[in-house]
Amino acid sequence: MNLKEFAASELAGIQEKGLYKDERVLTSPQQAHIETRKSRFLNFCANNYLGLANHPELLAAGKEALDRYGFGMASVRFICGTAEIHKQLEERVARFLGYEDVILYSSCFDANTGLFETLLDEQDAIISDRLNHASIIDGTRLCKAMRFRFRHGNMEHLETQLKRADKYRFRMIATDGVFSMDGDVARLKEICDLAERYDALVMVDDSHATGFFGPTGRGSVEHHDVIHRVTLVTSTFGKALGGSSGGFTAGPREIIGLLRQRSRPYLFSNSLSPVVAAVTLKAIDLIEENPALVEKLRQNTAYFRREIESAGLSVRPGEHPIVPVMLGDARLAHETADRLLENGIYVVGFSFPVVPEGEARIRIQVSAAHEKEDLDLLVRSLKNLGHTARTG
Ligand SMILES: *Cc1c(COP(=O)(O)O)cnc(C)c1O
Repeated sequence: MNLKEFAASELAGIQEKGLYKDERVLTSPQQAHIETRKSRFLNFCANNYLGLANHPELLAAGKEALDRYGFGMASVRFICGTAEIHKQLEERVARFLGYEDVILYSSCFDANTGLFETLLDEQDAIISDRLNHASIIDGTRLCKAMRFRFRHGNMEHLETQLKRADKYRFRMIATDGVFSMDGDVARLKEICDLAERYDALVMVDDSHATGFFGPTGRGSVEHHDVIHRVTLVTSTFGKALGGSSGGFTAGPREIIGLLRQRSRPYLFSNSLSPVVAAVTLKAIDLIEENPALVEKLRQNTAYFRREIESAGLSVRPGEHPIVPVMLGDARLAHETADRLLENGIYVVGFSFPVVPEGEARIRIQVSAAHEKEDLDLLVRSLKNLGHTARTG
């Protein structure tokens, strides 16, 4: 069997197991109501938490930036790829989050893969939540530090692992701020307490929180009031902050300074387009100037969670706009998603092995771009389907 035949047989296996991922082609911009060539959908599965992906003020900022800065830098940062707007964005993100300094990457995936191996080596230890994002897992794999994993959100197990990591020089706890399958928030207060007791550092990937979660949208670190106790925050511009691309690491000046010298995705991968930098800057301005934006998402989330619970459906409790509606059975979850799609509502069904067996669900992501009637329509549709599922 040659490689081409091997690939074909792997693909067939993926199809057989029902794990094949199809891509739906949109013909409209990313927004609450989206279009494909055949239909229109009310969209509940984008990370467009604040509805900024197609916001008129961001579009205007992008057009202006295109004229002013051009399209691309055609270089990496340290050779010929640093524009004024990159420095402005780094300062702006640092000020927004309350950190000393910020380094930009092409994605949060790059931020995470460029973090651990630059700062830690075989004398050190990383203690990582078992459900952390793939980019943290890959980042820690590239690093020579000893890896310890703790059971998801389990503070006793984290403490056990911290004790085992005792003999290492630096100990870094790594966690997502918000976990994407359940929408649950890391127990950052307790994590920081343990970190202080065992002299460890804390790194939080706040991709599902930056810009919209916490009282003023500073993320899970603000939600838990631990901004000054979390040493490093990584996050993305590809979700709430306009949703295109780019990521960053925020932290103390010296650590960010060292990343600029040695972090491989920063040194060897092209600069963020100045257009993306300018639009992201505008997104942060909008969020700061219009607290109503974060507030609308909060109200939409609270309203939707309340309505869905009073409709008798089971949701994972919480405050995050990721709302998993638990259906248990894998077939039921996928059928529900299919039926909603037939009704013009786009949600995704998740089942084993993406989530634990018997915990199949549909995942709904609420956005500030949704109106009350959008949320009502989804609740009504789910209620009707739920009824068919129970009686049918
Ligand atoms: C989405 C996500 C990423 C990837 O961000 P990109 O900027 O798209 O690479 C990384 N970490 C977490 C926790 C995420 O949710």
